[in-house]
Amino acid sequence: TKIYHSLRPITPLPPLTTPLSITDYLFPHLNSSPPPTTAAAAALIDATTRRRISFSDFARRIQSLTSSLQNRLHLSKGDTAFILSPNSLHFPILHFSLLSLGVVVSPSNPASTKPEISRQIHLSKPVIAFATSETAAKIPSLRYGTVLLDSPEFESLMTRPKTGDNNNNNKQRVTVNQSDTATILYSSGTTGRIKGVELTHRNWISVVAGVFASRELRSSPAVALCTVPFFHVYGMGLFMRELAMGHSVAVCTGPRFDLTAVMRAIEEFRVTHVALAPPVAVAMTKGNLMDGYDLRSLEVVACGGAPLQRSVLAYGLTEVTGRVFGTVGVKECGVVGATGKLLSNSEAKVVDPDTGIGLPPMMPGELWLRGPSVMKGYVGDAAATTEILDSDGWLRTGDLCYFDNEGFLFFVERIKELFKYKGYQVAPAELEYLLHSHPEVADVAVAPYPDEEVGQLPMAFIVRHNGSTIDEPQIMDFVAKQVAPYKRIRRVMFVDMIPKKAPGKVLRKELIKLALSKATAK
Ligand code: AMP
Repeated sequence: TKIYHSLRPITPLPPLTTPLSITDYLFPHLNSSPPPTTAAAAALIDATTRRRISFSDFARRIQSLTSSLQNRLHLSKGDTAFILSPNSLHFPILHFSLLSLGVVVSPSNPASTKPEISRQIHLSKPVIAFATSETAAKIPSLRYGTVLLDSPEFESLMTRPKTGDNNNNNKQRVTVNQSDTATILYSSGTTGRIKGVELTHRNWISVVAGVFASRELRSSPAVALCTVPFFHVYGMGLFMRELAMGHSVAVCTGPRFDLTAVMRAIEEFRVTHVALAPPVAVAMTKGNLMDGYDLRSLEVVACGGAPLQRSVLAYGLTEVTGRVFGTVGVKECGVVGATGKLLSNSEAKVVDPDTGIGLPPMMPGELWLRGPSVMKGYVGDAAATTEILDSDGWLRTGDLCYFDNEGFLFFVERIKELFKYKGYQVAPAELEYLLHSHPEVADVAVAPYPDEEVGQLPMAFIVRHNGSTIDEPQIMDFVAKQVAPYKRIRRVMFVDMIPKKAPGKVLRKELIKLALSKATAK
């Protein structure tokens, strides 16, 4: 079997047996006291309110919060903290503080509904939640309750580690091993319902390793604008890398995503790096949206996570801690349609999905990945873990891809159930499970309907019970009440039966073909 190795130089990783949290790895000087006061540059910028937190303040806040989490909130290693918040300046501070104590960080999409959240909490078993005044009501009561990130109390946790105590360095030492779980992120993987992806400190170290080597000498400050969510592996990896490199991270904090705000922020904060989800990149180039803005500061526009018409610059998935293929330099970006080359320290195979045989370049098959960034597993779900991760450490991505002769990876299509609406994961099994609970639904399948603007939209194929007159709006409404907006059913078709290859194996492609032929016949 052909195994593809990374063509890039090996990135050295710290010895596995050295106890090391991702926070201490990225900010080795954080615990030196007092924190470096020379760092007046902004670590974090709120692009909406213009509030800034300097690097020295950032370090001080992490120190204070870490000690508050220990002494005032009584969190300890192995506990899990649930986070339900839109992007904010507090998010990275909380993130690094929790991780330095070995507390597991488990963030969810703030648009999640109550039932979605209770499912996630059932998986990750948090003892505490950090939310905002807008999202808190959706969280069930936890052992240590819910802390509001937008409250004066949180501000005080970050600035005064103990009531009446201004000494920042009273944190008790904690030994965090690299093999300890750092984060639990939610993903449906290749099949089935939402699962909790357990990523270790080692996984994160392996994907951010190299940031120090790639630190450049610059004449002007680097400012990264993060428009992608921090709760997703993409946004999380991004703010970790950028801050460790000493770059400012500007955050879009408005309640809704707003393209003109992005343009304004690029101009106002002289943004040099911007990360976009593919649908946003597409929208940005449409019409005359960019007119009238000075975007000359931009050096790098990063995009990944879903297919983009012409060229995609990166490929990754939650289960491998984000990006595993990427383009470096202008020349590699010129390979139209490619997602880049395998990044350092990883291995890949392209496997015939039916026979399991490894395939040579130019032959599409399922992409398998192995390396230090592959997840530990799905929390509390050994069966789902062995389904996606074999005993040799290979992770089946569920994506059909091929390599060209130069080692560039081309993404062909997803063969897994999971699909993406505006870059957000939709798991058909989750929506089918919901729809099955409707008394008038006899059988159901959910499949991705292609759409230029959003990528793919959730479409339901419904077999009604005898005598039922349930209609399209009723189906849509039933689902809309229970799921986050990006998972809503946006098309419905009533059918006599759901085609299946075997029990439970729905032929989703056939259903979509049927829907497309009906749509063109209209
Ligand atoms: P997530 O875990 O949410 O990051 O989703 C991972 C999935 O996103 C992958 O398995 C792919 O199906 C899809 N994906 C990621 N990068 C790309 C890309 N460059 N082109 C097409 N699909 C992608």
